[in-house]
Amino acid sequence: MTSAIVVGASVAGLLTARVLSDLVDEVVVMERERLDDVPLPRGHVPQGRHLHLLLTAGLDLLVAWFPGIDDELERMGAVWIDGTRAWVYQAGGYRAQGDWGRSALSMTRPLLELVVRHRIAALDNVRLDDGVVVDRVDVSAGRVSGVVVGGVLHRADLVVDCSGRSSRIAHQLESSGVLAPPVTRVTIDCAYASGFLPRSTDDFEGTFLVCATSPPTSFRTGAILPVEGDRWIVTLAGVHGDAPGTAEDEVLAFARSLLSPAVAQLVEGAGPLSSMASYRFPSSQRRHYEKVRPLLPGFVTLGDAACSFNPIYGQGMACAALQADALGDTVRELGVRSEELPRRYHRRAARIIDAPWAIAVGADFLHPKTVGAKARGTDQVNRYVLRVVKASHTSVQLARSFNLVLNLVEPTRRLLRPSVVARVLASSVPGRRRQTRLGHPRVGPSNTV
Ligand SMILES: Cc1cc2nc3c(=O)[nH]c(=O)nc-3n(C[C@H](O)[C@H](O)[C@H](O)COP(=O)(O)OP(=O)(O)OC[C@H]3O[C@@H](n4cnc5c(N)ncnc54)[C@H](O)[C@@H]3O)c2cc1C
Repeated sequence: MTSAIVVGASVAGLLTARVLSDLVDEVVVMERERLDDVPLPRGHVPQGRHLHLLLTAGLDLLVAWFPGIDDELERMGAVWIDGTRAWVYQAGGYRAQGDWGRSALSMTRPLLELVVRHRIAALDNVRLDDGVVVDRVDVSAGRVSGVVVGGVLHRADLVVDCSGRSSRIAHQLESSGVLAPPVTRVTIDCAYASGFLPRSTDDFEGTFLVCATSPPTSFRTGAILPVEGDRWIVTLAGVHGDAPGTAEDEVLAFARSLLSPAVAQLVEGAGPLSSMASYRFPSSQRRHYEKVRPLLPGFVTLGDAACSFNPIYGQGMACAALQADALGDTVRELGVRSEELPRRYHRRAARIIDAPWAIAVGADFLHPKTVGAKARGTDQVNRYVLRVVKASHTSVQLARSFNLVLNLVEPTRRLLRPSVVARVLASSVPGRRRQTRLGHPRVGPSNTV
């Protein structure tokens, strides 16, 4: 009889439980919070009040693990979005509309979590214990033998720490010197403010609207996506102390300062804005378990507990899904009791994390106040990516390549394919025939603004 304990029933923990349910006889998920059967933000996952888009790489895995979940989410009000009517403004223009390769399903984070939790509850060999605070892991004879809750040891062959960025297990193991991985932090001090607007079909000629940062002119972001309940979720964000504020006049002033006027027009025109929630994210943080020798048999770390990125790029949940998938592959190859498992898993996970880390943290270095370990070649990559962004204002093919990379479906090296590079270079040759650039969308309840 093999067993696993997963600490934390948020996105990483739930997806890990799903993967392990195929490979381990008994899986117990322990969650500190009492979990209600409603799609509302939870106290220990405060980021759930803010825009949460599951990138395509994560959606693909979700659908593979829970067949039909996309239809179920759509029935509950989630909205498919794609490149044909997308308004993404960056570096002086909107990305060319058209076939961007893949669609995404837009909903609130609490809805996603609730539906996944229901699917997990339906699995025979998974038990979800809520209201259970894991105090620490037990280390005996050089391996983790289980977790300790209120002084009682719960044994398992494998403990997976999915308890988030501030994991107390990570702190316990680090402070006792048992497992102290090197940690990389790159400051960004990202400040979010989010709320909801009522959504009607004639609000706006598009599926979604994003005004991304356009360094060095603007490091501010605004995004408006359709979600369940016929609502738009509105998220505004600034970095390095530039907080949007949550009072109505502050929100409007911030929205009006964005380079695309459409964000403010939609905020002003779509109806009453709900109260706004705020969130502060200090730094991207990565614990490098792949660099530790030896690791602890019986124990691995997954999700934000291993790595959390500047959230603007929307990568955390998809990256957690990819890590859970890699853990499944490793358990399948080695067995859940293998002493080799943590090393092989964390090497795989590190390769997965490398791509979103490079995208998010690399771009953060465009801001002069960003401080931390900067990978060699970051400035050259940023200069090239800026050219890709500009060229994708007029090339649907480039918009598609860029979209697939940002969604972690394709590796970043796709942007270096000869056909992509040729398009980027051609776009900067004066006089070459180009597709028409998009003007600002028409926004407002009567669609006449
Ligand atoms: C403002 C913001 C916006 C974001 N937007 C996006 C987005 O658009 N797309 C995206 O993919 N990602 C986004 N993210 C990232 C995403 O929220 C995380 O990557 C995601 O939640 C996965 O985290 P996790 O499950 O590892 O940890 P968390 O979500 O932090 O969950 C940890 C869980 O562990 C539980 N727990 C903690 N300690 C214990 C303990 N001792 N015992 C028992 N249980 C415990 C907690 O209660 C919680 O349920 C965003 C993040 C922020 C901050």
